Amino acid sequence: MTIALYGEDAYLREAAAEVVAHTPEGGLVLDRTVFYPTGGGQPGDSGVVIWDGRELEIATTVKGEGDQIVLVPAAPMALPEVGVKLVQHLGWERRHRHMRVHTALHLLSVVLPLPVTGGQVGAEKGRLDFLMPEPPENKDAVEDALNELIDRDLLITESWITEAELDAQPELVKTMSVRPPRGKGSIRLVRIGEGPEQVDLQPCGGTHVARTSEIGAVRLGKVENKGKQNRRVHMHLG
Ligand SMILES: [Zn+2]
Repeated sequence: MTIALYGEDAYLREAAAEVVAHTPEGGLVLDRTVFYPTGGGQPGDSGVVIWDGRELEIATTVKGEGDQIVLVPAAPMALPEVGVKLVQHLGWERRHRHMRVHTALHLLSVVLPLPVTGGQVGAEKGRLDFLMPEPPENKDAVEDALNELIDRDLLITESWITEAELDAQPELVKTMSVRPPRGKGSIRLVRIGEGPEQVDLQPCGGTHVARTSEIGAVRLGKVENKGKQNRRVHMHLG
C-alpha cells in the first residue's frame, strides 16, 4: 500500500519516498506520497520526482490495485528501479487551486442545501450537480451567501469516525453518487467552522484549504438543466 501523506497534511509539497513497484502501464508506485490520486471529482496531482540527479515529470496520479497510488509519468522514460530512494515535488500551484475549488464546493452545498448527485473540481472552476427540480430563485443571493461564508475565514479541520458511527448518522452523507470509501474501518470527516460557527460536516477524502478566506472571492456561473430533477451549478474562482 501507499501511505497517503496528503490525507494528513494537504500542504505538504515535498517528501522523500522509496519506489515499491512499477505498474504494467508504466506507472510508479511509492511507499508514501504527497500526490493526490484522481477521485471524488478531483483531478490527480502532477509534479516531478528526483533521484540521482535525474528527474521524471509526473503528469497525473491515479488509484491502483488495493491501496496503491500510482504516479503516471508525462512521457515514456526509464523509471527509477524498485528500492530507489527519491524525492517527490508536488506541482503546488495547480493542487492549491484544486484545494480552493474543492473547499468552495463544500460551501456551495451549504448555501444550496440539496442532495448532491455529482461534482467536478478544476484549477479554475468547479461544479456540483444537485437534485434540484427548480432553478435557484435568486442566483446573486446564492453567490453573495457563498462569498460571505468565505469571508468569515472559517477554520477547516478533519477528524476520523468509524464506519459504524457513520452508519448511525446517514444525514452526514450529502453526495449520493460518491460514497465515502469503505472497508478501512475509519472514515475522514471534514468540518468547516468550529463549535457554534460550524457550517458543514461531511465525509470526504479530498484536499482542502486550512481557512475559507484562502479560497478568495468566487462567482457563480451558469445553472444547467441535467434532466428533469437535476441541475448543474458552475462556480469560478475570482
Ligand atoms: Zn472535500
